[in-house]
Amino acid sequence: MAERPYIVGNWKMNGTRAMLSEARAIDRAAQRYMKVEVAVAPPYTLIHAVHKEAEQIGVGAQDCHAGPEGAHTGDINAPMVADAGAKFVILGHSERRQDHAETNECINAKIESAIDAGLRVILCCGETLETRDAGKAEEFVLGQLKAALPKFEDPAERLTVAYEPIWAIGTGRTATADDIAAMHGAIRQLLVDTYGEEASAMVRILYGGSVKPENAREILATPEVGGALVGGASLSAESFLGIVVGAS
Ligand code: PEP
Repeated sequence: MAERPYIVGNWKMNGTRAMLSEARAIDRAAQRYMKVEVAVAPPYTLIHAVHKEAEQIGVGAQDCHAGPEGAHTGDINAPMVADAGAKFVILGHSERRQDHAETNECINAKIESAIDAGLRVILCCGETLETRDAGKAEEFVLGQLKAALPKFEDPAERLTVAYEPIWAIGTGRTATADDIAAMHGAIRQLLVDTYGEEASAMVRILYGGSVKPENAREILATPEVGGALVGGASLSAESFLGIVVGAS
């Protein structure tokens, strides 16, 4: 297991202020598991409120616009989410790539703007089932990363990568430990090739895709798995904390 596993809840398009009680419960419990870094990414509308409640957990956004403020109706940029209290942003999630036709180049621009705004970034990657069945999963995922990775000298704590096979997201299916280990190993090698051994050592590689309390311990014990990005199971404090316990 990673030195300090990182467990991040992605609330997606879920949650009104009624969800603040879950955030409070997660925050209180996280204080008992200091060896685990716990964070949630609520929808934009709740970032500030969760930030105000949170003493222990990190708060982040699920996306941001790459540009400076201006005429982009409905968009929110990196300085705005940072001002609301976000410390990190999830970028390149497969649902953004699918629903909003986000390309690797657009994701790269978002990453650069997020880093400029002082945010940490969780960069998502992952293949479809067709790509995996065609034996091209690794080539595809590494291609996504090569095109999107930011060009800084030292990624240190500013960058986290999340491998999320699309066919495992919200489906109840998870990749096998062998598949996860192989993909995370290939991603680690790419990070070493890109940033060097020492600089890339701090970059954690999360796994995402139907992680729940029942499978968290096994997934988190897989080589090169530095934590989990959790969708559905992060919506209740009880199930999310079950995963945090699995990481402790
Ligand atoms: C996600 O979308 O980031 C995710 C991993 O979702 P789920 O845990 O519901 O599969």
